[in-house]
Amino acid sequence: AKIEFDRRICYYEHDMDEQARQRRDMVRDLWTALEQNGFYLAYQVQKSVATGDITGYEVLLRWNRPGHGEVPPSEFIPVAEECGAINAIGIWVLKMACLEAASWPEPYKIAVNVSGIQLSQVELVETVRNVLFMSGLAPARLELEVTETSIIGDKQRALHILRQIKAMGVSIAIDDFCTGYSSLDTLRSFPFDKIKLDRSFMSEVESNEQSKAIVRAILALGRSLSVPVLAEGVETREQLDVLRKEGCTEAQGFLLGRPGSIDWADRLEPGLRA
Ligand code: C2E
Ligand code: CA
Ligand code: CA
Ligand code: CA
Repeated sequence: AKIEFDRRICYYEHDMDEQARQRRDMVRDLWTALEQNGFYLAYQVQKSVATGDITGYEVLLRWNRPGHGEVPPSEFIPVAEECGAINAIGIWVLKMACLEAASWPEPYKIAVNVSGIQLSQVELVETVRNVLFMSGLAPARLELEVTETSIIGDKQRALHILRQIKAMGVSIAIDDFCTGYSSLDTLRSFPFDKIKLDRSFMSEVESNEQSKAIVRAILALGRSLSVPVLAEGVETREQLDVLRKEGCTEAQGFLLGRPGSIDWADRLEPGLRA
């Protein structure tokens, strides 16, 4: 039994070494990607539910890691947050997104995700100011998406930072709404410009009366607070129909457009196409 036990510890330690090694390699590759332009951005369209008009685009970070292929952000963002690279990555995303958006033929909004780590640093305020100045993008065209969980850390500091950014004319959306522990309290503490309803609610909105009731309640909440609600993860015509009936403001999801590059020729009248 003793030998068996030792052997198990041995395997365990081996696994730990392997995990630590993989993590260390990823950290190294993240910094290399930053230095060598290894990241790129995808854009996902956001549309008005009532009219179908484009209202803006959310920026989603992409990484084609040499030797590994496309790594989903859910795998590398947590590592970047742990090792601190998220600050530099976040600045890169903000800069590239604003430069891009400033060159668009249409003045759509650009929504950029901000990590909780960035929200704990006052430098974020100066970063946003500099990026707007450098890109020439009108502040009203920039929206920062923050999750509830990212505000929970040092709440007062995060809200202080958000207030200064909002004062520049940048809007702030609360992302993944209803997945945290304190949705309503978060709403009470800060004048958000938009609520992004988490996509987990969309998957059941047609089949599950409970989910539908929750969606309806959040839309009513948004209306009474005069805060527009954007539904995430809209994949079917039926879901969009429910949202329209219930008075949802905006929608985003595979049905309306997958994340990718923007084909401006598509946006022009057919007669104007090359
Ligand atoms: P998120 O902010 O909630 O972004 C929406 C995610 O849902 C994206 O995943 C998008 O591809 C996916 N999605 C959009 N429509 C649909 C749909 O109809 N169905 C389904 N099943 N999924 C849909 P992605 O690109 O893998 O990003 C995952 C998360 O990584 C994001 O969630 C965000 O939290 C984080 N992330 C992405 N880019 C950045 C970034 O630049 N900075 C930071 N800090 N986080 C980022
Ligand atoms: Ca988001
Ligand atoms: Ca989200
Ligand atoms: Ca999410």
